[in-house]
Amino acid sequence: MNSEFRKLPSVDQVLAHERIKKLAESHGYPHSLLVSLARESLDSARRVIAGGSPAPTLGEIVEAVADRLQTLEIPRLRPVINATGVLLHTNLGRAPLSKEATEAISVVATDYNNLEFDLRSGRRGSRHVHVEDILCQLTGAEAALVVNNNASGVLLGLTALARRKEVIVSRGQAVEIGGSFRIPDVMRQSGAKLVEVGTTNCTYAADYEEAITPRTAALMRVHSSNFRLVGFVSEATLEEIVDVGNRHNITVLDDLGSGCFLDTTEFGLDPEPMVQQSVAAGVGVTFFSGDKLVGGPQAGIIVGQKHLVDKLKRHPMARAVRVDKIRLAALIATLLHYLKGEATSKIPVWRMIATPLEEIEQRAELWAKALNGMGVVIDGETMVGGGSLPGGTLPTKLVAIGEQGTGKKRVNIPQAISARLRDMPVPVIGRISEDRLLLDPRSVPPEDDAKILAALRDVASDLSKGR
Ligand SMILES: *Cc1c(COP(=O)(O)O)cnc(C)c1O
Repeated sequence: MNSEFRKLPSVDQVLAHERIKKLAESHGYPHSLLVSLARESLDSARRVIAGGSPAPTLGEIVEAVADRLQTLEIPRLRPVINATGVLLHTNLGRAPLSKEATEAISVVATDYNNLEFDLRSGRRGSRHVHVEDILCQLTGAEAALVVNNNASGVLLGLTALARRKEVIVSRGQAVEIGGSFRIPDVMRQSGAKLVEVGTTNCTYAADYEEAITPRTAALMRVHSSNFRLVGFVSEATLEEIVDVGNRHNITVLDDLGSGCFLDTTEFGLDPEPMVQQSVAAGVGVTFFSGDKLVGGPQAGIIVGQKHLVDKLKRHPMARAVRVDKIRLAALIATLLHYLKGEATSKIPVWRMIATPLEEIEQRAELWAKALNGMGVVIDGETMVGGGSLPGGTLPTKLVAIGEQGTGKKRVNIPQAISARLRDMPVPVIGRISEDRLLLDPRSVPPEDDAKILAALRDVASDLSKGR
C-alpha cells in the first residue's frame, strides 16, 4: 500500500485541531456534522493520493473542513441587482414583489392564519376563497383558482377536462416555452391527445372546425410567448376559435403565458393579449402565470366559467399542485394593486416599464460618472422577457463599458468588470454584447442606485490602480 495513505490523520485528529474546535465552539455545530465533513475531507485526500500526489498535511485537511463550515454561514439564495435590461429574467427570479406583497408574506409566514378556516362559522374553509373574488372582479370571470405555476395550471386543466380525449391546437402554437415546457409533452402527460391543425404559418377557423370529432374535448389557443412569426402569417383570432367552439358546443382553453391586466400599448410596447379580453371573448378556461407581467409571486392563475373551474378544483391533481399560503398572500396583495388602480406606481415591473426615458438617462449619466471615464451612455433597448412580448422592447439608456487601451496594454475590461461586479456584497449583473458590458438602469429600482454607484466606483478605482 502507498505509504502516503498512512500519513493521513485520523478523523479524531482533525476534530481535535485547535481551528476546528474554535469554529465548533463559536457556532455550536453538532458533532455529527463535524465528523461527516472530516470524513469527506479525508476521502478527497485519499483520491488525491490515489491520483499520484503526496498526502495533504493535517493543516490542509483542517482548512478544507473549516472552509466547508464557513460556507454554511454564507446565504445561498441572495439578492442581486438586475442591470441586465431584461425585466422578467427567469434566472434572476422573474418579478420582484411590491412592498405590500413582501409585507403580506412576512405577516402570513410569522403567524397562524385563516388559510382554510372560515372565521364566521368556525369550520373548515377553502384556500381558494381569499383570492377568487378579486380575480373575478379584475377579469370578469365567473370563477378562479390559483395553483403552483402556469405549467401545472395547464396540466391540471388538460387532465381534468380532456383526458383520453382530443384537443385541437394550431400547428403554429404547438410550441416550446423553454425550461422544458412543450405543449405536445404537456398534452401527452395529461393524457389528452394533441390534434394539430393548419400549418406552421397559417391556421384558419375552418381548420379547427374540420378537425372536430366526437372525441374532441377542447380547442386550445397557446400564446407563442417567446417568438414571433413574420411575413405570410395568419392565425385564427380568439373570437373566431370561440365561435367555432360555441357552434359545436366545445370548450375553448387559452394558455396566455404571461397574462396581462394592463394595455401594454399605452407604454409604447407591442400589444400583449389581456386576460380580460380572453374572458370577454367567451373562453372557457384561461391560464396564466403570477410572476410574469402580473408582477407577483410564482403562481398559476386559472380563470373561467364556473362549471369548468369547479371541475379543476375537484380534480385530485389540484391538491398536488396547490399554492402555498405565502405565495397566496403575496398574490392577493399584488392583485389588489390592480383593483385599486395603483399598479404602475406599486408593482416593480410596471414601475420600470412606466419610467420615462429622461429619468433613465439621468441615472445612466450618474452611473457612467462613477466609472470615471470607463463607461459611456448609449441608446439601447430594455426587454420585457419572461415569455411575454416577443420582440417587444422599450427604449432605454445603457452604460456601455468597452475594451480599453491598445496593443499590448489592451485589457478585456468588460469581462473583468463584469466579474468584479458579480463579486460585490450585492452582486450586480449586467449583460455582455459585442465585447461590451451593458448596464441598464431601467431594470434596477432607483432605491438600489446607491449600492450600484458604490460598486461601480470601487471597481473603477481598483482597475485604474491596475489591481
Ligand atoms: C411561461 C409560460 C408557461 C409556463 O408558465 P410558468 O408559470 O413558468 O409555469 C406556459 N405557457 C406559456 C404560453 C408561457 O409563456
